[in-house]
Amino acid sequence: MSLAESFEIIQHRIRVTCERAGRAADSVTVLAVTKSQPPERVRAAADCGQVLFGENKVQEAKAKIPLCPGKLRWHFIGHLQSNKCRDAVELFEMIQSVDSLSLAQEINRRAEQAGKTMPVLLQVNVAGEASKFGYPPEKLLADLEAINQLRRIEIHGLMTVPPYVTDPEKARPHFRRLRDLKIQCEQKLGAPLPHLSMGMSGDFEVATEEGATLVRIGTALFGPRVPAKMRNPAE
Ligand SMILES: *Cc1c(COP(=O)(O)O)cnc(C)c1O
Repeated sequence: MSLAESFEIIQHRIRVTCERAGRAADSVTVLAVTKSQPPERVRAAADCGQVLFGENKVQEAKAKIPLCPGKLRWHFIGHLQSNKCRDAVELFEMIQSVDSLSLAQEINRRAEQAGKTMPVLLQVNVAGEASKFGYPPEKLLADLEAINQLRRIEIHGLMTVPPYVTDPEKARPHFRRLRDLKIQCEQKLGAPLPHLSMGMSGDFEVATEEGATLVRIGTALFGPRVPAKMRNPAE
């Protein structure tokens, strides 16, 4: 299947799901996850009209983004170490994976130095998995005010990567949990949060039914990820 066909199919499935859920089709945006994919694939996706992309490693993004068309928008979706915040603030228009106050403070400091304001999502570990990054929900509510006071950070919503399941229905309670948590955050802040980043290749329709505004899709668009040892560094 061509990339153009994959994009058309995903967009169609989102439109149908939105219709079923009584949502506007343009209330859900596809973020194309290009980790492991070479810049040619990003350019091919851009030729299909895709503008929003996601990477999960700062080093990989730093090498790749300059080789991609200039008007594309990039979100950071991986675990961020404090020593990579400076690059992340420079490369990305949003950091979706803020999961501690200290990380938020470091992003704030780097954004200040760069003369920028950084939009972020707060990443939540909805199922409390030991192996996953993200805020435990109670800790998120405890830190929310302090993050909100950082002058160079704008909280735009929540993000989650739920436990991997083969049946997408099993992810539904986790998506609901994130949506409920967003409502709690909005009450605490006294302001609306526009984004819920949830849903990947296997479960974006369920996530859309539960209110996702950003669905992060990799393999359903680009096919299997390319193992590092098979990538051409000259690409
Ligand atoms: C890789 C990745 C995705 C995309 O996963 P697919 O199953 O390939 O769609 C989404 N979100 C995050 C945080 C990822 O690391």
